[in-house]
Amino acid sequence: MIKKVLIANRGEIALRIHRACHEMGIKTVAVHSTADEDAMHVRLADESVCIGPPASVDSYLNIPAILTAAEITGADAIHPGYGFLSENAKFADIVEEHDIVFIGPSGDHIRVMGDKITAKKTVKKLGIPVVPGSDGGITDDETARKVCEDIGFPVIIKASAGGGGRGMQIVRSAENLSQQLNTCRTEAKASFGDDAVYIEKFLTKPRHIEFQLIGDKHGNCIHLGERDCSLQRRHQKVLEEAPSPVIDSETRERMGGIISKAMSDLGYCGAGTIEFLYEDGEFYFIEMNTRVQVEHPVTEMITGIDIVREQIRVASGKKLSYTQDMVRFFGHAIECRINAEHPFSFVPNPGLVTQYHVPGGLNVRCDSAVYAGYTIPPYYDSMIAKLIVSGYSRDGCLLRLKRSLEEYVIDGVITTIPLHQALMANEDFQAGDYDIHWLEKFLEERSE
Ligand code: ADP
Repeated sequence: MIKKVLIANRGEIALRIHRACHEMGIKTVAVHSTADEDAMHVRLADESVCIGPPASVDSYLNIPAILTAAEITGADAIHPGYGFLSENAKFADIVEEHDIVFIGPSGDHIRVMGDKITAKKTVKKLGIPVVPGSDGGITDDETARKVCEDIGFPVIIKASAGGGGRGMQIVRSAENLSQQLNTCRTEAKASFGDDAVYIEKFLTKPRHIEFQLIGDKHGNCIHLGERDCSLQRRHQKVLEEAPSPVIDSETRERMGGIISKAMSDLGYCGAGTIEFLYEDGEFYFIEMNTRVQVEHPVTEMITGIDIVREQIRVASGKKLSYTQDMVRFFGHAIECRINAEHPFSFVPNPGLVTQYHVPGGLNVRCDSAVYAGYTIPPYYDSMIAKLIVSGYSRDGCLLRLKRSLEEYVIDGVITTIPLHQALMANEDFQAGDYDIHWLEKFLEERSE
């Protein structure tokens, strides 16, 4: 059994992992950059090791420094969290080669899903529906033109190695195709070191619906239902909810069943998320994330299942604590991502937090590493907190969220709390009537 986990991350997710470990009687090791000496994840951990200067490439992405920290502290497992090294297949392999447990899927599964072209081919074979488009990478204009003729404009060109909402081009007509194909390939090469791109039908009014799953090494895989993450800005999620206002229990069971069977056939071990676009009653796979996600708490709130705890259990070879029959969905949960940014222009605003007060009360959860007197460093992601609220019904959840946002005090820096308050007051949002393009339009209207 795992006794000491090195947490190769920072911020709220490092705390989240620390909490799961301590509840399981497991010791924790924090790693940190010189910019994070006073960070909460360092203060709470049983031990900590400084692994380098502020820039992520020299610290949180520094594999030799992280492995050295694990060896000197005697950590027998590493949890990568999300971002940073969490979907780095080479890192997962190296950790295992050092006889340290990687709390995540095998390097091979990360590799397959990390390349979007291979991922799409793999899940298609396993019976999961995908977006119509090119069967593989596109290298020449002629093939691109043929694919577009088949599926019709608009199309979206995507970098196979892309991520984080980057490396995509929407093409609306044939005239621009070859030029945009070129731009996308050049950008993909520059950003991801790989110029492979592929083409998909661009869906005009889809919702982003994703399914949470967890598999163990004994061939079991369960799903924990869906999350609706359609509220996005520049392809980045802003607010997530579970269940989705548009998915009924019959659809949930049917899709969940397809997904857990597919992942069990693949022999997948660990937590994962299969992301779909959902339009006119049809699901289209877009990608799989082979790690814990930022928005996992909304699923925890409606199932009562600790996803990080299950990650740790299955990584150490234990069976999942739950069978599919034991999974129950109760009520509704919504998560607001709170960033140290201007609420409508999204300009980052790191700095000193002078006052800090977290909302409380029934079914209110706040995952954050901020405290009064903490200086948010400028080097990392601007998300500083996640406010997650649940309720018996979606309407009740919205009222509780509105109340909790009013109570939340974060002084000294500008945050996106006013954006969430504006969303709570909006009728479309209240009715659950939005698709992935809705937020961009909402923001445009506000700036007019
Ligand atoms: P990333 O790995 O960069 O997050 P994804 O493939 O998951 O990329 O896509 C991110 C977002 O881009 C989706 O949530 C959706 O908003 C948009 N998107 C991706 N593919 C399509 C598509 N075929 N049609 C319409 N929008 C899309």
